Amino acid sequence: MTHSHTPRAKLAVLTVPAFKDNYLWLIHDGVHAAVVDPGDGAPILEALRTNGLRLTAILLTHHHADHTGGVPDLLAHARVPVFGPRHDGIAAVTEPLAEGDRITVPGLGLELSVLDVPGHTRGHIAYVRRDGEIGAGTHWLFCGDTLFGAGCGRLFEGTPAQMVDSLAKLAALPDDTLVYCAHEYTLSNLRFAEAVEPANQALQLRLRADSEQRGRKLPTIPSTIAIEKATNPFLRAGEPGIQASLAAVGKLAPGADRVAAFAALREWKNVF
Ligand SMILES: [Zn+2]
Repeated sequence: MTHSHTPRAKLAVLTVPAFKDNYLWLIHDGVHAAVVDPGDGAPILEALRTNGLRLTAILLTHHHADHTGGVPDLLAHARVPVFGPRHDGIAAVTEPLAEGDRITVPGLGLELSVLDVPGHTRGHIAYVRRDGEIGAGTHWLFCGDTLFGAGCGRLFEGTPAQMVDSLAKLAALPDDTLVYCAHEYTLSNLRFAEAVEPANQALQLRLRADSEQRGRKLPTIPSTIAIEKATNPFLRAGEPGIQASLAAVGKLAPGADRVAAFAALREWKNVF
């Protein structure tokens, strides 16, 4: 008996818009597909049909309805495992996960590792692909509502200190990691970032590029960890320029630490 080596088909990520500004992500190899955070089932079923894909897994980052609402419809269509956070109270999860876990996504042979990133919700997790083929575009992060383009999620269940830790874990990923977050909030986040850090050249370039992108009705997502580190104020709360901006508007006392600066930024953004 002989064994022939079949090279694995290249994996790709399809952007499936839903609701007003959500992105649902469909990871596929041309045959099988796994969906990340299906807030709605209908657009995923449509994308599966259009692209001739068979659903093999559901991956969830946190419990909010705009990330999980499509699960019942998808399970009615295909009985697939549901990967998700161990500590976020999601009844549909069949494969509970927490930091340090590694999974192989059924049908895709895709290995993902899990990070705990509490803050937006208590049990929020992120999925990281670290072992992509050599070359650009093969490190992936699916981070739900933790890190956004030029922003971060609101603190519904966690503390500023937890969110600072969670964002630091994501910022420590390789620079070329593609950031697949769950919402198109980038332009509004960039306008806030510009108010906070008006002299940041990388931020000005991004604002121009992403405004053009949105002008053509194209997504600004995925971004990269390098872009976020250069332009996202919530990853830059320790920068003296940002602390000076916060102090200038009376939102931060001199000598405050990074967590206090982050908390002040988050509160300022909530009312910006
Ligand atoms: Zn959420």
